Formats: sequence, C-alpha cells, structure tokens
Amino acid sequence: MTDSGPAYDVLIVGAGSAGSAIAARVSENPNLSVALLEAGPDYARLSDTPDDLVNSHNNSYRDHDWGFSYEPTAGRQDRFPRGRVVGGSSAVNTTIALRGMPEDYDEWAALGNEGWAWADVLPAFKRLERDLDFPHAPYHGDSGPITIRRYPDSEMLPQHLAFIEAARDFDYPYCADANDPDGWGAGPHPMNKLARLRISAAVGYLAPARLRSNLHILPDREVQRLLLQGRRCVGVECRHQGQNQTLRARLVVLAAGALMTPVVLLRSGIGAAAEVAALGVELAADVPGVGKNLSDHPALAVVCEVRDPKLIDFDAPIIQSILRYTAPGSDKRNDLQIEQISFAGRPGGPPSFLIAPVLEYQYGRGQLTLDSVNSAPRVANRFCEDQRDCDRLAGCVLDTLRFTREGPLAEMVAAVTFPDPARGGSLEDIKMLCRKYAGSGYHPCGTAKMGPVEDSTAVVDARGRMHGLEQLVVADASIMPFVPRANTNLTCFMIGEQVGEWLRTQPADYGL
Ligand SMILES: Cc1cc2nc3c(=O)[nH]c(=O)nc-3n(C[C@H](O)[C@H](O)[C@H](O)COP(=O)(O)OP(=O)(O)OC[C@H]3O[C@@H](n4cnc5c(N)ncnc54)[C@H](O)[C@@H]3O)c2cc1C
Repeated sequence: MTDSGPAYDVLIVGAGSAGSAIAARVSENPNLSVALLEAGPDYARLSDTPDDLVNSHNNSYRDHDWGFSYEPTAGRQDRFPRGRVVGGSSAVNTTIALRGMPEDYDEWAALGNEGWAWADVLPAFKRLERDLDFPHAPYHGDSGPITIRRYPDSEMLPQHLAFIEAARDFDYPYCADANDPDGWGAGPHPMNKLARLRISAAVGYLAPARLRSNLHILPDREVQRLLLQGRRCVGVECRHQGQNQTLRARLVVLAAGALMTPVVLLRSGIGAAAEVAALGVELAADVPGVGKNLSDHPALAVVCEVRDPKLIDFDAPIIQSILRYTAPGSDKRNDLQIEQISFAGRPGGPPSFLIAPVLEYQYGRGQLTLDSVNSAPRVANRFCEDQRDCDRLAGCVLDTLRFTREGPLAEMVAAVTFPDPARGGSLEDIKMLCRKYAGSGYHPCGTAKMGPVEDSTAVVDARGRMHGLEQLVVADASIMPFVPRANTNLTCFMIGEQVGEWLRTQPADYGL
C-alpha cells in the first residue's frame, strides 16, 4: 500500500457530470488544492479522444462502460450502461440537454432541502449553459461551459420533421424551446453537442480548468472505500496500477454516480446496519437510506419497420425531437415524453426506427444492494409496480401508437413489430406490457437522497453533507430526492454547480 504525498483540500471521487463541475468550480479558488479521482481513463486532448466519446450521434455503450446489469421489472435482466472515463456518463450519453420542471425542484425544497427551489437552482442552470438559440431569454445563460443548441428544420431527418408535424396534427402545440419553464408540446430537442462533438463534462468543464496548477486530475484509480477516523472522513483507498493507494484530504466529495456512490458507502460501512453487517464490514454509520429510493424514468420502445430503407442511417443523429405533455387528469405538468429515435436494430437487419414513450414523474421506487463487498451493485428498479406509474405509461404507449397509425410519421411505417399488434392493444394489454417490459431511460438517481436529519431515509443534508459523519459530502445524481421530469444530465451539472459554488464561496460550511 502506498500512502501518496500531501493531503488535498478537496478530493472528489468520480469525474462525471457532477464531479467535473464541482472540480472546475472549486479549483477557481487558487488557495484550494483539488484532486479529481476517476476509475476510468483520461483523454486530455480532443485529438487523443476515441471516436465513441467524441461522436454524439450515438451513445457509447462498451468501450468506456462499467458493464453493469439491472432488473427493470421482476425477473428480467438487462445491461445498465454507465460511463467509466473522465467525463463520466456525460461522455457516453445522447446529449439531450433538458431541464426538469420548476415544480420538481420546488418539491425537492418542500421536502426540507433549502437552496434547491426553482428560484434557487435557476441561476445554476443559467450559469452552466451557453444556449446558442435563446441566449437572451431571462431563463437562459449565454456564457457557460456547456454549449446547447437545437437542430433547425434544415438539419432535421425526415422522420423527426414528420414526428413534429404529426404532433401538430394531433393538437400538441409547437414548442421551439423545450427548456422554456412554461413550455410543452413538440419541437427540437435542446442538445449539448456541436455538430458531432459531444460537449461532455470533460470537454465543457475540464478542458479549460485542467490548466490550473491546483487541480489534479487522477485517472485510472478506482476507489474501494473511504478512510474514516472515528466519525471523520480523512481520505480514500483506491486501486491504481494493480496496487492499493491511499489518498488523504480535508474533505471528500463522493460523486461516483447513482449506482457507484452507494456501493462505495456500503463498502465503507455506511448504510443500514444489518446490510453492512451482512457484508462483513465494520459499521461506520447506520444510514438506512443508502441504496434505497432508486428513482428513474420507465420507458417502452415502439419498434417500427419503415417502408423506405433509405430513411435509416446508423451514422445519423440518434435523436433530434421531443414531445413533452401531461397525462389526462394528472396534476404533474409534463409528466410524459414521447421521443422519436432515428434508427433501431442493427445494420443489415430490418430497417427500423423507434418511438419511445417515457414516464417522467415516477411515484414508484427501486433499490440497490450489494451481495458481497466486492460485487457489482444489484439494481432492482421495480418499474410500474405503482399503479399510477403503470396507468400513465400505458396511456403514453397508446398515444405513441397513434403516431404509427395516423399522420405523416405513420406514412413512413410499414409495420409495428413491438408491441405485437396481434397480441391485443387494449389499455389492460398495454399495462401488462409495461409491468413486464418497461426499461430504464438510463436516469437512475435518489440512492443517497438529501433531506433533513429527521427524515430517517435521508443520507445527506441540503448541502450534500453526510448525516452522522464529518468531512464527507455526496454530490451527484444520488442526492436527488426523486427523478426530475427530464433527462438527468443537466440536473447533474446543476448539482455540481450548486455544491461547487458553495464549496468555493463558503468553505467554512464544509469545515475547510
Ligand atoms: C448511455 C446513456 C445515455 C444517456 N443519455 C442522456 C441524455 O441524452 N441526456 C441526459 O440528460 N442524460 C442522459 N443520461 C444520463 C446522464 O448522463 C446521467 O444522469 C449523468 O451523467 C449522471 O451524472 P453523475 O455525475 O451522477 O454520474 P456520472 O456522470 O456517471 O459520473 C460518475 C463518475 O464516477 C466514476 N466512478 C464511479 N465509481 C468510482 C469509483 N469507485 N472510483 C473512482 N471513480 C468512480 C465513474 O467512472 C464516472 O466517471 C444518459 C446516460 C447513459 C449511460
């Protein structure tokens, strides 16, 4: 075991969406030394960056992935991609740059999390972005690290133009900016890409920050556990080049993402006492909420074989448009999404695209556990077990199927191959499908949720500080009390902006 050198002021575990934003913000203070640890590799220059990370036209699923699997619904297993590289999941994702609804953040605050209401988080959402289309709107920013734009009609694929036109025919309004807090309807997706280039956290936040001498980006180091002295976190133990390494810091910020953050906590003896004991680990803090409260977006895919094979180009942008709307009778605005996915299957297979119905406001919760101290997380989302989730997702599937039957998109469809039309299309049939086949929108969060200490399921307080321990902060998708009504990357950047700025401007609140 090597005990490497001087203590850092702040040691961040995980160079993903939130961790990179925190590192960039905290290192603006030249008096704070910052270490950013990452299990995966680092590509410091764009010219050395592999194409799967540069090319935002499709997700990267294999070359920079953790190889996790999950159980979306009882008895089914599927892969659960997560980025393992400097940039984290933002470096492998679809680059949809959508904010949650203002009410999501107001609800987080109403649960006892001061500083997270819409009025509080809007400045962070503005600060993180450079919106090229609406730079002067009062709710947008024009000079942040993450460039965002929308495909104009002239760059849209025919299937996306047809989707938007069909939505208009079905009386959904046209929505030029899906990030307008009052907006709904169909239109271009806001996306953090420039041509093909994915504006990941590595590109947007770290490329300019890595010049700073007080920021140390340390790749290829997988943190095994936190080092604790009594109730105080004093550093981490990680694997580096086949050896155990110890790194010490005045403050540790865990930003390993919603699947790995609870794993690192459990391995360190932080979790429900009985679960920690079953792992054979000494209990450091009895925090029952670790790994619970898993919140995500259940989705289904309506698979359509197309009439004209020339429509399907696996090298084209995978997505360009979005429909946000509200389920009938729901009091949660924009709790549903329908997305047109440009291509599906494999080259050489039947030429197909997808239309994906997604539930955006989820009531149900899953959980994450560890079978043994060195195992990968066991993730069970328990999608659509809550009747309210199942009902609204099933309604959204029926709304999606309409696009395959009427209007300009339907004209492109030769046959729907899933759900099999021969197997019944009633609401009850579709609910059964949702309970069986719903899968993740890849937006897990909530597994170390923030909340006041009186809430026995809360893991950290509203500043990200771990309940019951000192000098340990969690700041990533895990701390969300529940999934917002949007793809989660921008909200993770926002969490990084919030905690990063608090650390930089009010270090005493974090014992610095
Ligand atoms: C394929 C895919 C497509 C997606 N598409 C979109 C999209 O288009 N739009 C959107 O909004 N959201 C999308 N998401 C979700 C979004 O990218 C995530 O919600 C977000 O990036 C999570 O940020 P995070 O900081 O919580 O975690 P991550 O960005 O996952 O960062 C965690 C980091 O910690 C590192 N790490 C983990 N454990 C350890 C350890 N023990 N030691 C050291 N390092 C560790 C990881 O390697 C990773 O780099 C997608 C996700 C995936 C996987």
